[in-house]
Amino acid sequence: MNIFFRNKMTAATLAAAFADIAAQFDGELYFDDSPLHEAQKRVYATDASVYQELPVAVALPKTVADIRALILFANRHGLTLIPRAAGTSLAGQVVGAGVVVDISKYFNKVLEVNQQERWVRVQPGVIRDDLNAYLRPYGLMFGPETSTASRAMIGGMIGNNSSGLHSIVWGDTRDHLLSASVLLSDGTATAFTALSADEVAAKGAQDNLEGTIYRNLQQLLGNAENRALIRENYPKHTLTRRNTGYALDMLLAEAAAGVVAGAAELNLCNILAGSEGTLAFVTEAKLNLIPLPPKEEGLICIHCHSLQEALQANLVALRHQPMASELVDDYIMGFTKGHPVYQFNRFFIEGEPAALLMVEFMAASQEEITAKAEALVAELKAAGLGYAYPLIRGAQTKLAWDVRKAGLGLIRNLPGDSQPVNLIEDCAVSPEDLPAYIADLQLILDKYKLSASYYAHAGAGELHVEPMINLKTSEGKALFRTVLHETALLVKKYNGSLSGEHGDGRLRGEFIPTVLGKEVYGLLKQVKQTFDPNGVFNAHKIVDTPPMNEALRYEADKQIIPVETLFDFSRQEGILRLAEKCSGSGDCRKTHVTGGTMCPSYMATRQEKDTTRARANILRQFLTNSEKENRFDHQEIKEVMDLCLSCKACKSECPSSVDVAKMKAEFLQHYYDANGVSPRTWLIGHFTKSQQLASFFPPLYNFMVKNNFTSKLVKKVIGFAPERSLPTVGSTTLRSWKKKWDKARKASGESQQAGVKRRQVNLFCDEFTNYNDVEIGKTVVKLLTALGYEVVLPEHLESGRTYLSKGLVRKAKKIANENVQRLSRVVQNDIPLIGIEPSAILTFRDEYLDLVSPELLPAAQELARNSFLLEEFLLREAELGHITPDMFTKKQQLVKLHGHCYQKSLNVLAPTHKILALPENYQVELIPSGCCGMAGSFGYEKEHYEVSMKIGSLVLFPAVQEQAPDTLIAAAGTSCRHQIKDGTQREALHPAEILWQALAKK
Ligand SMILES: Cc1cc2nc3c(=O)[nH]c(=O)nc-3n(C[C@H](O)[C@H](O)[C@H](O)COP(=O)(O)OP(=O)(O)OC[C@H]3O[C@@H](n4cnc5c(N)ncnc54)[C@H](O)[C@@H]3O)c2cc1C
Ligand code: SF4
Ligand code: SF4
Repeated sequence: MNIFFRNKMTAATLAAAFADIAAQFDGELYFDDSPLHEAQKRVYATDASVYQELPVAVALPKTVADIRALILFANRHGLTLIPRAAGTSLAGQVVGAGVVVDISKYFNKVLEVNQQERWVRVQPGVIRDDLNAYLRPYGLMFGPETSTASRAMIGGMIGNNSSGLHSIVWGDTRDHLLSASVLLSDGTATAFTALSADEVAAKGAQDNLEGTIYRNLQQLLGNAENRALIRENYPKHTLTRRNTGYALDMLLAEAAAGVVAGAAELNLCNILAGSEGTLAFVTEAKLNLIPLPPKEEGLICIHCHSLQEALQANLVALRHQPMASELVDDYIMGFTKGHPVYQFNRFFIEGEPAALLMVEFMAASQEEITAKAEALVAELKAAGLGYAYPLIRGAQTKLAWDVRKAGLGLIRNLPGDSQPVNLIEDCAVSPEDLPAYIADLQLILDKYKLSASYYAHAGAGELHVEPMINLKTSEGKALFRTVLHETALLVKKYNGSLSGEHGDGRLRGEFIPTVLGKEVYGLLKQVKQTFDPNGVFNAHKIVDTPPMNEALRYEADKQIIPVETLFDFSRQEGILRLAEKCSGSGDCRKTHVTGGTMCPSYMATRQEKDTTRARANILRQFLTNSEKENRFDHQEIKEVMDLCLSCKACKSECPSSVDVAKMKAEFLQHYYDANGVSPRTWLIGHFTKSQQLASFFPPLYNFMVKNNFTSKLVKKVIGFAPERSLPTVGSTTLRSWKKKWDKARKASGESQQAGVKRRQVNLFCDEFTNYNDVEIGKTVVKLLTALGYEVVLPEHLESGRTYLSKGLVRKAKKIANENVQRLSRVVQNDIPLIGIEPSAILTFRDEYLDLVSPELLPAAQELARNSFLLEEFLLREAELGHITPDMFTKKQQLVKLHGHCYQKSLNVLAPTHKILALPENYQVELIPSGCCGMAGSFGYEKEHYEVSMKIGSLVLFPAVQEQAPDTLIAAAGTSCRHQIKDGTQREALHPAEILWQALAKK
């Protein structure tokens, strides 16, 4: 039974009640059982923890009045509100059967900066890294830095009292929370700030909820017995990470300084930080800022033979006042091997260390860094600790830190059902106790034959220890509880903290009495009762939590019939396992300010529904629980997949490699199987056919798509946005032109010129170049010929891209099989297949390998090895000395390059960059853009047009618009060029066109 239906409301009456407030609500509300509302609720059923529970509703308030209305509503109907920011909590803080109140979309403004007094006033949905990007020009920053800083928000950081990598110097969120505007549980707006004793007394004299809060706290802390209990049971004072329960110890410190007796200051921010949304709703926060750190940084990566050796090295390192001392074990390092992104971050690893201790120094000069590093290394060597000590400097430190920060996501790549779990990852002890505590902990884990990974904040006494447990079984579920219970006893032994930074949530709450004692736990309950007598704020977190091994994502011992798929998902152990790999880390919620491509739809809409995480989660939920024979046949999945641009950024940028583009295509085919294919989808899939027809009457077709009246009509009929320009066809196809060109050259004897050694290449005549970008195709043929190659257009079918992007996978599969058979006959090691359009040629290296029939797989693999993007091929030839800079102009030229998403995803953007820079004086700069927003037909579709343009306008359009007219804009993708044209009215060129222009002798 749903524990939050305390007044026995049925779902229908609840929906009616919500409909009642909807009229006055400025933001968004999702509460009924329509597919969109159901989908919204489902995507908020999880966070980055192991818990899953369907909220009764989801609200995205736009104003403080909206939040107040929700509080009054919750009071009236006996519901609880779950404040939520980025939802990266690891202890289930934002999961529950209440109303999730997501402030991330509308509460994300920086309100005021005071440079002199070093503070900033922000709304709670401001992202930590985005805030610091904003503050950089002021020479200031907000210190606490979680590994999730690219998406974690100030409201969430306050809720969890987050800290992170540099906590030994920059502290935690509480240390920097000066004041907060809040709504109390009765809807009253007030501010928590530093108050003098007189002000505290005045507050306590009020006859309202706020008055009660101050009076009760004064009473609680004024009681000598309570004070003794707090002093005895809270963690050692040398431990700075102390997030267990409410921070009564922090308030006590103030009380001891005299508040209760009537002297110094009291600031309820100290208890608000770390209260996990259970005491008050934060609507604004004033944060202390620190100056930017010294500009030089150096990271010594101490390579150790064992974990214990690294922990001893940590104690040595701490004596040298580093900025951070963080550990990464071999388990995590192992997952970086062969990872599409992180394999390139391994440059500093020597041999096979069992653990790395990463110690960071910052200073005004590199000389100082060197001196600090040398002093540390000398002491380590004298103590016989470590075997290699590479010092990484400057920009490269980020690459190394990224390995550490991606730890949690990376270990999710472990195959099988035993997975690393967040359970005891947040226990902290005083740093000097860490070696002994970890040794004791390993005995517990050994007793249960559990392997684990160890990483993170050694310098602060907190290692994230993640044991591998199979939560899909009853034994695993039981073990989950046992391990936390025994660890809690161990934490008590070391007078440590059950939670160091991640919070208690519904995971650790049950064992707070074990660590802080029953009496202190009673005090915590009093605090909750005082602030929130009706349980309006995030009920059942920290105190009164349900059993910690219930409401998990996985139902124990559930038998799930494997899902039949058209793509081969065997490398990911099936499509369901691939969806399950999403840890909820929220990397897919970073914004364009941080950069990268994942996830363009979220960057544009700022809706959880439009994240990679939401897509993985909704698929997982339906593939696990659907009772339909076709488990994909759910409108809710379609709602969540709708804005996925199939850009494939998640395949490489998600630390757990959750490849949603592939899963979306698979889903769509099954969904069509049940619901049919719409005419527009059919038409887009059969784009090649339509362009082939058009190519018989180019003038007529081009008139139709260019003429204002007819083009509007065509777009209306198809369902394309009226603002879009439609692609035209060439006056001839590339194939016909090539035949004539070959004939003419043969006749003129040009093709057999004496002395020219012609190496043959197969040019993949993709559908977009053959019909639409014919001029580019001609340029490529001429360029290759001028560079000394014999260009052949082999016989093949279209690439299948249009079918794939619309999820017509069955058709794409047939094409893949046919193309592999045809092209394998002509493509060999020394006669490669090269392509102009990334989205077409890269299918050979990506989708075809998962699509072809098993007997064709070896041929497909061989073909993939010999298929190249034109720029890759040219670069290879340049590296072999076959193409040289002296073949090109010496003119000065600035080129701004926008990369196609697939180039980024398959890591083949660098060759384009390099080959464009081959002409001696060509300066090539990468536009830090993500997806252009067009994504094949996506940007044409009328319901997607706005999002498409929004994506383009985040980085790409402004970057293009600010270029001088003589700067060349390069983009290999046909969609990207079209989008640049529509969004900026500037013509972007294919890299081949730029190289052709630059060729000295044509
Ligand atoms: C891969 C990974 C690495 C992590 N690394 C770190 C780390 O290095 N250091 C660290 O400290 N944490 C870390 N975390 C935990 C988490 O990222 C942080 O706690 C983060 O600050 C949470 O921010 P959020 O925006 O996701 O908040 P959410 O998860 O959305 O919310 C956090 C809490 O704040 C409450 N809350 C949110 N908004 C409000 C509001 N307006 N009013 C009142 N309460 C509110 C919520 O109810 C909840 O209890 C990590 C998590 C992951 C998945
Ligand atoms: S999809 Fe990937 S990046 Fe996004 S939350 Fe899941 S694991 Fe993290
Ligand atoms: S394919 Fe692109 S748009 Fe779709 S989920 Fe992945 S990153 Fe987001």
